[in-house]
Amino acid sequence: MKMTELEELREKIEEITIEMLSLLKTRTEIAQKIGKIKNQQGMSVSNESRENELRELVKKKCQEIDFDSNTALKFLNFLLNESVKVQSSVSNTHLAIFLKAKELEQQGKKIIHLEVGEPDFQPPVNVKKSLSEVYDKGFGKYGPAKGLPEFRRKLAEFVNGNFGAKINLENVMVTPGARFGVFLAISTLLDPSDEIIVIEPAWPAYRQCAINSGIKVRSVKTTLENGWEPSIDEILSCINYNTKMIVLNYPNNPTGKILPKKLQDEIVRIARKHDLYILSDEIYSNYSNVEWNSIVSYDYEKSIVTQSFSKSHSMTGYRIGYLISSENIIERLTKLQALCLTNVSEPIQYVAMKALNEDVTPNTEIMNERLTKLEEICKEMGLEFVRPDGAMYIFARTKNPINTSELSEELLNHGVAIAPGIGFGDYNEFFRISACLDIKTLIEGMDILKTRL
Ligand code: PMP
Repeated sequence: MKMTELEELREKIEEITIEMLSLLKTRTEIAQKIGKIKNQQGMSVSNESRENELRELVKKKCQEIDFDSNTALKFLNFLLNESVKVQSSVSNTHLAIFLKAKELEQQGKKIIHLEVGEPDFQPPVNVKKSLSEVYDKGFGKYGPAKGLPEFRRKLAEFVNGNFGAKINLENVMVTPGARFGVFLAISTLLDPSDEIIVIEPAWPAYRQCAINSGIKVRSVKTTLENGWEPSIDEILSCINYNTKMIVLNYPNNPTGKILPKKLQDEIVRIARKHDLYILSDEIYSNYSNVEWNSIVSYDYEKSIVTQSFSKSHSMTGYRIGYLISSENIIERLTKLQALCLTNVSEPIQYVAMKALNEDVTPNTEIMNERLTKLEEICKEMGLEFVRPDGAMYIFARTKNPINTSELSEELLNHGVAIAPGIGFGDYNEFFRISACLDIKTLIEGMDILKTRL
């Protein structure tokens, strides 16, 4: 008797599963159609208010049928992420423009790269000497996954001296660039269908890493009118049972914003209260033109700070960075790093350790001069933007809104690459100009841009 009942129940589960599959297929097809329409109209993939309506609907239904809403919302996150994945394949980021520009260059066309965030400076000169030393010094074997202890000790001293922290080498882990640090933090500390808060406009990788791991992004949109400052109420309204992390990136890519201390203090207080991880990507800290406070200075055990030699030391291709966190988190992240790549290349760690002693403030000064020049040109052109507090970019829009995805495609034919705003969130009317070229070339690029606006 019991066996028959079990069989019946199993059959029922089978039926429901099959029914769900065909519903899922229809849902995916509709999502694809929506994706195409959004792309044609230059709309961003995610729509927070639409998603919120769905959340409310699900919660209401859960009450009616007496089902746990936290479980249902996790399932909804899974479905929303699937839609985002399906639709994301069609959107235009600065990386897509960069790749198209490279293709045109291969065909012999000259392109001025205003889209890419890669400083044109040479790395510090002692990098050359250190590169020639590593061979004789014997660096070049497998090493500890967290990085060379001597390098980590030096990094801890550097962070204590420059960022107001009290850390030691156990709080530091060397990574192959900040991008990998971001990936490690998001994919290790969060589980599928957890939620992560991203303040937009934002560097696209936070969203992409989250989507890759099945994590739901809750975006908090900021505006030029509000000086790119996030609203505390909006952050609070995103937080629920599934929220696990908030991402900060100041000085910000693409706006150059640095948060006023009070606002940053408040965000840290909220994170503590709601037990959220703070992932603070501070790779532009070297390019700060107003007061800036590192998240390490708050001594919050659930913070993870990513840093890099890419922008500060102009060592993008060396692929070297580090992250700072509590010992417990570092241990967890180390496991994934060991699994993925054993350890960061020892010769490069040695070179970066030596580069750490070099004075890179001239880079900051040059970048600031270029930004000032770009601001001047943008003002003359009647563009709207907020004066960047730091970083290497200007995020601007024209007085009469235009589709900058189309503009960036068109500009490639005229020899200039710019980053369309859509790559940073729902900002299709904005575009990002990077100050990573000498002033003469910047002027040349902006002159071409002027003719197309
Ligand atoms: N974070 C931000 C905000 C960035 O803009 C970039 C590169 N453009 C990175 C991280 C990547 O840094 P890395 O080269 O150290 O991986």
